[in-house]
Amino acid sequence: MKMTRCRHKNKLTGKDAEEPVIAYQIRNALYLNITNRCSNICVFCPKFGQYKLYGNNLLLEVEPSFEEVMAAVGDPTEFEEIVFCGFGESLIRLDLVVRIAQELKQHYNGSIRINTDGQANLVHGRNIIPELAGLVDCISVSLNAPDADTYMRLCNTPFGAEGFRAVCDFMRLATKQIPDVIASVVNVSGLDLDACRELAHSLGASFRVRELS
Ligand code: SF4
Repeated sequence: MKMTRCRHKNKLTGKDAEEPVIAYQIRNALYLNITNRCSNICVFCPKFGQYKLYGNNLLLEVEPSFEEVMAAVGDPTEFEEIVFCGFGESLIRLDLVVRIAQELKQHYNGSIRINTDGQANLVHGRNIIPELAGLVDCISVSLNAPDADTYMRLCNTPFGAEGFRAVCDFMRLATKQIPDVIASVVNVSGLDLDACRELAHSLGASFRVRELS
């Protein structure tokens, strides 16, 4: 990680380490924390214990505006990748994601990625992929299960079985318009990784296993 952290200050933001951060760095990527809202209640989500990640406090007091996010980004050219990913579902704030990506694309040649629960089409009631096409280089979708029952047990989606179907549909649609689509799973005990991998590939996505931490 490029950022050298001292005990009390976030070097990227200059803020006290306990203050909420909008942007935080992991290796050569800058992560944007634009909301704490999400529809799922995943059993493995660290945010229900604490909103800390790499020493950053991701618990927002208020959701940041476009101007506040861009100020937190600063000069994006020093990063290889900008990632929409905090402790929340960025695509709940779709308009903001699109506006930020449009702004970045004007002077940033690195990659723009969204990490998502894949339920945005249910949340917004329409296919939102076309709104991201040409702006987003990669979408990493939390698949997390090979079937609706397992997904329900692990992610507690309020959409029931429809939630898992929507995640699969979202990925299928995304592969038509987004250059890189990744299906990720958190490696929880008993999860059938082979079945998850097979499903991911059948949807046209690559597959990534994230270790539970
Ligand atoms: S969707 Fe993401 S932020 Fe929301 S509960 Fe699950 S892991 Fe946590």
